[in-house]
Amino acid sequence: MTTYTAPAVVAELLSGDTPVVLFGAGDLGVMAHYALTRLGVRVTCFSDGRAVKHGTTVRGLEVRAPEQLAELPGDTHVFLCGNYLESMTDRLRGMGFTRIHTCVDLLDGFDFTGSDTGMEPVFIERKIALHKRECLKAEERASEALVLKYLDVVVTEACSMKCQDCSNLMQYYTKPKHSDLDLLESAVDRIMDSIDGIYEFRVLGGEPFVNPRVHRVIDKLTGYEGVEKVVVYTNATIVPRGENLECLKNDKVVVDITNYGTHSRKHDELIEVLDAHGIANLSKIPVWTDSGRIKFVERSAEELDDMFQNCCVNDVLTLLNGKLYRCPFSANGTNLGAVPETSADVVDLTGDRAGAELRADIRRLYGRSTHLTACSFCNGRDYRTPRIEPAIQTRRPLPLV
Ligand code: SF4
Ligand code: SF4
Repeated sequence: MTTYTAPAVVAELLSGDTPVVLFGAGDLGVMAHYALTRLGVRVTCFSDGRAVKHGTTVRGLEVRAPEQLAELPGDTHVFLCGNYLESMTDRLRGMGFTRIHTCVDLLDGFDFTGSDTGMEPVFIERKIALHKRECLKAEERASEALVLKYLDVVVTEACSMKCQDCSNLMQYYTKPKHSDLDLLESAVDRIMDSIDGIYEFRVLGGEPFVNPRVHRVIDKLTGYEGVEKVVVYTNATIVPRGENLECLKNDKVVVDITNYGTHSRKHDELIEVLDAHGIANLSKIPVWTDSGRIKFVERSAEELDDMFQNCCVNDVLTLLNGKLYRCPFSANGTNLGAVPETSADVVDLTGDRAGAELRADIRRLYGRSTHLTACSFCNGRDYRTPRIEPAIQTRRPLPLV
């Protein structure tokens, strides 16, 4: 067991009265506030770029707009509690702040047992790990290493539910197929050979347990040395049995359950089975944005770049039917034939692309900061996208217009 050591900045904060700001009032901000408070540090306020948060309170503290931070002295300590690290840092530096910290050293290894954050331990662990990856990614952007944060591995186009607003566009598939596993494995092997590591594989569909051979993929992914987590996303309509259950008994696996209430008819039974076999799992009630419609809208390049740069899934590389895409909407929209395929938006692994050539292609796709062709057909996925009721079911597939 490793012993937690608070970062040196905590001692400095305890011995002075310099203001402390948590930049980001989401889950990481809440966790950072809990940790700092437990260590005896008094936090001055939260700050957040999202206008909807301004003037609200989080854990009893005011959430200020970034412009309001100009009132604070330049030696204020600011903790970055979000994942837009480079843009946040640039903004703070532009305002004259120099004492800017990530939350990695503060949160990594901190004991959240009995915390009042309302978050499950597995969720906390993943949030911290992803923040670490995000910080590493920012460092790596300036170096030669190529480490991916996520890779979505789609094992089937089929789902046991038909949500009319599914952001992975399952509602448009008229004849969904399971993925060709030989092609999938060959593609993942070549990706892994040409990059330096990956934090998290995400196994999904549709509903991954609809595919009776999903165990073959999960066993393959957990077998890679350079992988920390394999997260299986399920809607809790199917309780895996046999090999599909056995493959989950691995320290790298986390089953991430979306609880759609009565639609998730096996929810409690699934958790019981997973717990009984010591399989890490977490269950959450989803919040949905209106991001599941394919509809072309004429927008300027600047508007599209802004959509792309603010999108919460713009770095979720997605492998679907032997092709690698920059986000799940781009993957499924192109796979459905609704979004035109352009070579700049896709790395095609259906042939024998490998080695240095593949590495360069992945770097180009993963590193780009301008919009995808798919963004013109998408409603966006960021804090400005309207919220909608999740999981309204449609009886028939929606027509592609
Ligand atoms: S959102 Fe609904 S349709 Fe889409 S994958 Fe999840 S359960 Fe299936
Ligand atoms: S198409 Fe563009 S805006 Fe839509 S989810 Fe993908 S990256 Fe985000």
